[in-house]
Order: sequence, then structure tokens, then C-alpha cells
Amino acid sequence: MIAEVIVDIAASETDRIYDYLCDENTIVGSRVRAPFGGKIVPGFVMRTKETSDYPAEKLKRVFPCSDELPALTKECLFLAEKITARYRVPKALTLRLFLPSEMRTGKVRELTRNYAALALPVAQMKLAKTAKNQLGAAQYLEENGKTDCAYLNSIYPGGVSALEKKGYVVITKEQILRDPYKTVTAEKVERVLTPDQQRAVDTVHTDERTVQLLHGVTGSGKTEVYLTLIAECLSRGESSIFLVPEISLTPQMLSQLRARFGKNAAILHSGLSAGERFDEWWRLRTGEAKIAIGARSAIFAPLENLGVIIIDEEHDSSYSSESAPRYNTFDVAYLRAKKNGCKLVLGSATPSVDTYKRAQDGEFSLIRMDKRINKRPLPDILIADMRREVRRGNNTPFSSALKEELDRCLLGGKQAILFLNRRGYSQTVICKECGYVAKCESCDVSLTYHRDENCLKCHYCGTKYNMLSACPECGGRKLSYSGTGTQKIAAELQKAYPEARILRMDNDTTSGKEGHYKILKTFAEHKADILVGTQMIAKGHDFPSVTLVGILDADMSLYFSDYRSGERTFQLITQVAGRSGRAEEQGKVVLQTFDPENEVLRFATAYDYEGFYENEISRRAAMMYPPFSKIVRVLVTGEEDKKCIEALREVYVELERLYTENTEKFLFFNKMRAPIKRIQNKFRYQVLMHLADVSVLPEIYAICAAARNRDALVSVEENPTNLT
Ligand code: ADP
Ligand code: ZN
Repeated sequence: MIAEVIVDIAASETDRIYDYLCDENTIVGSRVRAPFGGKIVPGFVMRTKETSDYPAEKLKRVFPCSDELPALTKECLFLAEKITARYRVPKALTLRLFLPSEMRTGKVRELTRNYAALALPVAQMKLAKTAKNQLGAAQYLEENGKTDCAYLNSIYPGGVSALEKKGYVVITKEQILRDPYKTVTAEKVERVLTPDQQRAVDTVHTDERTVQLLHGVTGSGKTEVYLTLIAECLSRGESSIFLVPEISLTPQMLSQLRARFGKNAAILHSGLSAGERFDEWWRLRTGEAKIAIGARSAIFAPLENLGVIIIDEEHDSSYSSESAPRYNTFDVAYLRAKKNGCKLVLGSATPSVDTYKRAQDGEFSLIRMDKRINKRPLPDILIADMRREVRRGNNTPFSSALKEELDRCLLGGKQAILFLNRRGYSQTVICKECGYVAKCESCDVSLTYHRDENCLKCHYCGTKYNMLSACPECGGRKLSYSGTGTQKIAAELQKAYPEARILRMDNDTTSGKEGHYKILKTFAEHKADILVGTQMIAKGHDFPSVTLVGILDADMSLYFSDYRSGERTFQLITQVAGRSGRAEEQGKVVLQTFDPENEVLRFATAYDYEGFYENEISRRAAMMYPPFSKIVRVLVTGEEDKKCIEALREVYVELERLYTENTEKFLFFNKMRAPIKRIQNKFRYQVLMHLADVSVLPEIYAICAAARNRDALVSVEENPTNLT
């Protein structure tokens, strides 16, 4: 038999399908080891056939790998083909999306662990009522079957071994499975759906459209709707995928999911080790776990027979990939939903303008949840005019309104969250005498001062620089550390409230596997009064004692030079405000701005999504911005400037030809240096296009795929979220 094999080398020269001889029982999708260019490389069987066009004596033979199941399911192969065709990336690169790295390299470590299983039903055991841990462990085993002893001991210390001594439990040593969440425990909560939630669930079932947009205000109970849909699938034996932004995989969320679905759920997130990731993936592949939960990449979960796909916070920018292949999560999800004949549920309090338009146009179903659970009102948003504060001589980052509310909040024993858009102690270092700005040597962006480490850091590549005592240009000693970051806010806050326990959460404090988990846990347990943070704290968290949210620099995101800046600002304010007053007490929000008349801020403070949308969509229509058009950037990057320029020239000639032949389809066409001309020592050039008609898109991809070479990466970005 002949196998058509893709070798796992992501280069354009090897980007084709090779014929090999294979065993008769070779299964499509399985992993093989293939002799290739004098080496043995991993490969994947895409198809099998009886004969090859190659002369038989030239064909080599592949060695099968001893996997229990083929690594790639039929659906994975189907999706891979679609993605490869759409984004014109090497096939090997696409296949990697579907596989944990350890599967590809075959370095999966084996672990043995003790597993416990019941020897007889709990009803037949003679256990004292006071033996809580034994009872607990026994009941757990009855409900969940065979379980890792270490896990059981973490909840019911000593229970299992006592049961074993009595002969009620059998312990066996078995290979596998690392449980990354063994420390996560929670009570299982059974909830009765509110009428709004029930109506949402019913609509998802009855409405015939594939895509269901759930537009529910923050705290309206969307999560419960998702979990109900997933639980229904599970009871029918169907699988499901639940996508959330990485940042929303909070401790509360994890424990909620664990409590609800136990081992039926595989939770994938960036904090997992490669081994843990493999285990979770394998549980999905074998069907032991039927629910895949995770960030963007979980959309590639090896599940079959999908009953529902859910994308929470659908507007979140983390759903478009920033490295090749730059797939769009929605597109992949839609393909899978269609293929499985299941629903794709998008949820958000602030849907992206693009999505909402499609719902308005009737392409997607639109389900509204306008009320918070128990009809608690949304928090009042108070606008603090910072210009007036400065005029009154207030030079602190806190308006008098915010201070007043903070006093009240802390006196009442409640918690507050202060949000700002920047991190680090200050923004940049500027010489007040000559205007010199400290910049990164390899990135061409200004450095940020970090007080705790007393150094300057580049936020693009992470390089640390020593603090400056004098200006390297003019020798002047008047260096200003302008701007305010989370660190400086936290320090100022401590001065103003010496008694308060302050926590800080940003990229600097959340490194390590459980970095932000720990901070959030501390805050959730009310071991701190104020949490200061960047947008990391904007999403999904549910802290019942938070009654005050301060947005320190609401203007920041309005100044991004991006057509979506209004949309982002609206989303951010709504999300952050949603953290306040989630329990019994009415919440408050203070929004500080230098531009109180701004209409986006006005709509946001009134929670008027509709108003914002109407305003925004007519602005976009007038300016011919997406969704009425598409912005496409072709980015050329590489370590050698000369090689980049060569590649740029090559794509540019072809793109310009496309442009001159189809001028009416373009609104804008320009070649330039990228705004940041070097990141991590890679030079960057771009061709920016604004398309009125996307029919030229496949050709743009083809041109770029052809120009790609060893020295220069040529990538295509559609409506890029980040034009650096
Ligand atoms: P959203 O995701 O829409 O922002 P959540 O799902 O976080 O809202 O729900 C808000 C709060 O309401 C949570 O504390 C949740 O536990 C609670 N909640 C949700 N559904 C119910 C229900 N049916 N009964 C009681 N409480 C609920
Ligand atoms: Zn740098």
C-alpha cells in the first residue's frame, strides 16, 4: 500500500505530499517515521492508495509509530486542508496546530501513579459517621470511578489508605495522567436557570441559524447558559468546545468547571507543562474527556461528534492568532460547527461591531439578556473631569471623587479595583534638557522604568537596561520619569492609604505558572483591599465584595491610531465596570478622563451598547472602515535588512501589479516601514492595503506564499488588531 505523507518540516521547499510504501493496516491520520533526506523525520499519513505515480524502486518505506490511535482525526485532516488553502501556509505548520508538541516529537514521558477504585459499593461498607474523610473518598470514588490517590488525599486526607486497610478499596499503580488542577477544589453548585437564561438555552436549540450571538450585560449569567448547554451535550454523549480568553481562566472559573464536569473536562491553558498538555489532549483524543476548555488553540481539540461550540467574550482580540498560521478562531469554529451540524454560540456584553452587524443583518441569531441576575442594577458610572482636578491643583493620579468613594468603600470593609492601561512604574525616561528618550537597542520603542528592579525594560522583547543617572546624549542630569504605571499608582495609593492592603496585577507580577492565579486568589479571599491592575483584571472575574472600580485613564485607549479604538474603549470600560457590585451591594464606578465630552465615553457610562453601535457603524460606513471593507497588512520580517528589502521588493512588484489591474477593488495601497522598524532584532517592512472588495484576497495570499524564503518571513494579516 502507498501512504501520502506530510513530513513535519515547516519549510516551503518541503511543503508537499510525498508517497511512501506502508503497511496494509496503515490508518489515515496516523503518525509515521519517514526516511527523508538521509534522516528519519516524523510525518503524518494524509491518505492511502494502491498505486503511486513514482517508480516502485524509488519509493521508500515509512515506519509506523505505536500510537494507540491515529494522532489526527478525519475532522482534523479536513480542517487542516481548509486552513492550509485559506491562509497558504506550509501544511506541516497547519498540522502542528492540532497536536501537542510532545506528540510530534515523541518525547512523551511516562509517569506512574497510584489509583484507587472501590472494591464494593459504599452502601455495603461499615463506616462510622465520624470518618468523614473515608466517607468522602468512598463517595467520590462511587461517583467518579477510579481516581488518582494523590488527588483524593488532597481533598480527603488519609481517607483512601484507611479504606484500603479495610479492604474497601483497591489501589493499583498505573501509567499516566498528570492532573494539573489537583489543587483546585470547589463545591458543585446546582442552579435553577432564570427565565432569561432558560429562554437563551431554548433559542439556541430552536433557532435554525448556526451562529447564535448571546448579547448579555455583565453579570447576566451567560456562564450558566454555556454550562447548561455543555451539560446537555454531555448527557447526550456529545462533546463540546468552550473557548475563553486565556485571562478568563480564573481560579473561580477553573474550580467551577472542575466541580461541575470533573474529569469529563480537559482544561488547556498556557500555564500547563508540555506533559500536562499532552495528557489533557490525549484524554480528549481517546474520548475520556468530552469537553475541551481553553483559550484560542482549544478550537483544534481532537473531539468527534461535537454538540456545541462556545466562544465567550467573542470580541476579545486574543481570538486572532498573531503567529503563522494567522487563523481566525471564529472561521475555524464555524467550519467545525457546520461539519458537525451543531450550534456555534458567541457570547459577549460588548460584541464586536463586526459580529453585531451580522446579527442585525439576520445572518446570526441574536439573543439578549438585558438584566443582571436578581435584577441588580449595573453600577453607576461617575465621570471625573481630570482637567478640573489639575486646575484645582490636584496633581495626584486620583480625582477627589475617586478618593471620596475609596474612603467610603474601605470604611465599609469592601474591596476596590483600580484599573489602568499601562504597566511599570512610569512610562518613559525623557531628558528634560535635550529631549532624549531612552529606547531599546533592538526594538526602536521607548523603555519603561521599573522601580522594584530599578531598571529599564523593553516591553516588546523584555531586555533589561541599567538605570540612567545622566542623559547619554547631553550629559544632563534632569531626567524625567514621565507617565504613571501600575507600580507608581500602587505606591501613591499606599501613601494615601497607609492601612490598606494593596495588590498589584500586571505582566510583571504574574509571571510563573500560577502567577495571576495566586494574586486573584488572595484578592478573592479578601486578604487585600485594593487591586491595582492593567486590562488583565478587566475580564470575567467575579469578586462579590468589590463595590468600587476606578478607571484611572479612560482616554488611553482612545489614542491608539486604529479604527477600532472607540470599540476597544467601549468594551474595556464596560468590562471593567462590570467588576463592581456583583453581589448584594450596589456598585460604583469612577471614570477619570481629560475628555469628558467624548461620545464613546458617554455611551459607555450610559451602558448604551445600541447607541454606541449605531454611532460607530455609521462612522465606519462613512469612512469605509471594516466591516464595510478589509484592511490587509503584508508584513516582511527578517534578521538581515538587505534580505528583507529583497523580499519586500518581490512581493511589492506583484502586489502593485494586482493593484493596477484591480484599482477599483482597493481603497488604499501603500508600502512603508512598519511603525516599529525593529523588534527582537528583526527588521520589519509592510505593505498596507485597504480593500473595498475582498475577492483579491486569495491572490494576495498566493503572492506572499511565493515570496516567502529562508531569510524573510512574509505574513498576511487581515484587519490586524495591532499595527506595530
Ligand atoms: P456573565 O458571564 O454574564 O457576566 P455570570 O455568569 O458571571 O455573568 O453570572 C453572574 C453571577 O450570577 C454569578 O455570581 C453567578 O454565580 C450568578 N448566577 C448565574 N446564574 C444564576 C442562577 N440561575 N441563579 C443564581 N445565581 C446565578
Ligand atoms: Zn526591545
